[in-house]
Amino acid sequence: MAHYRVVAATHQTIHAPLPHSHVLKVVTQIDSSNEERLWSVDEVLDAMRDGGVFYTRSGITGYTTLLLEWECPDCKQLCLRSFPDGVWENDLGNLPPCEQ
Ligand SMILES: [Zn+2]
Repeated sequence: MAHYRVVAATHQTIHAPLPHSHVLKVVTQIDSSNEERLWSVDEVLDAMRDGGVFYTRSGITGYTTLLLEWECPDCKQLCLRSFPDGVWENDLGNLPPCEQ
């Protein structure tokens, strides 16, 4: 089973029905190399359905958090969120934006 560490995430603001933000794209890195890949959210969701595992890891504590498919309660779009474990520094929202 493929495991992907998410190292960057770009968010996008959605304006309807209320202003809120979603993850738009992410960059993953394979632990054993520096090879990076840019993914759209749809590509990540497809890979998850095929059994891929996406996670973030805190640089401070080393805690990992899984990413989950999540239906936004505001606009009903399928999107991504990090598992709500209460550890702020491995949240998707705390990653740097994608460079690409
Ligand atoms: Zn939404």
